[in-house]
Amino acid sequence: MAAESILKVHQPVGPLTPLVLDSPHSGYLFPADFGAAVSIEQLRTAEDVDVHDLYAAAPLHGAHLLEASFARSYIDPNRSAGDIDLELLDGPWPHHYAPSGKARLGKALVWRSLDDGTPIYAARLSAKTVFHRITHYLQPYQLALKQLLDAAHTRHGVVYHINCHSMEAVGGVMGEGGEGKKRADVVLGDRDGSTCEAAFTQRVAEFFRSRGYSVAINDPYKGVELVRMYSDPRYGRHSLQVEVNKGLYLNNGTRERSPGYAALKADLGELVLDLTRYAQEI
Ligand SMILES: [Zn+2]
Repeated sequence: MAAESILKVHQPVGPLTPLVLDSPHSGYLFPADFGAAVSIEQLRTAEDVDVHDLYAAAPLHGAHLLEASFARSYIDPNRSAGDIDLELLDGPWPHHYAPSGKARLGKALVWRSLDDGTPIYAARLSAKTVFHRITHYLQPYQLALKQLLDAAHTRHGVVYHINCHSMEAVGGVMGEGGEGKKRADVVLGDRDGSTCEAAFTQRVAEFFRSRGYSVAINDPYKGVELVRMYSDPRYGRHSLQVEVNKGLYLNNGTRERSPGYAALKADLGELVLDLTRYAQEI
């Protein structure tokens, strides 16, 4: 499969800004070799529904927006290539191995189970199967993001990356923070202040709070691989993960847009504008 079809880059119109957004989990392409033992409906519970659309205004304000087309449940682009769940494999792993600890939740590079604990596969996978997903899906996505971030940094001497996600309103059995944990409206993750300057996190938090959203920082989501791998605040490379609560824009437990959808989408467009101003002020 050609790299073009596994991701989309929404090109900006008008003057370019140092903002780059990416939506790694809103795709719903299910490759024919997935081999899941559960239905696509079940797999789509892992999806950050419509997140690329919620930020559709970003290119209109001069920011690049990268979107993964493939389903996160097939391979998670927000993981390192070495984050292998050995319990999922039918033999040894002959490549780079660097576990993040997410395997305990069934959510390493290739997920073993859904948020409710349901196993995704009936049998273990071969190392070859997992390696194919790495080279044909994970690496092209991460490279595309790196190229956008590098280009912005070269143009502006600084880059601000928003890694865009959505989360369940309440944690599932295998959810971060534990089952039944209620989430704030917005959770910002800068890996305890290591992936962007503190003022950037604060600006985003203030933006949401000023519009009445509850905001938590690094609780329960600190940000994972995509905010870690290319960020380096000392050199003007800033990455921040933004999780919005699905309860703000979807009808309970479904993928149907609720009446709150339009308001959230408008606010996220305003957020991009506000961060463009921030980047000019700094
Ligand atoms: Zn996500």
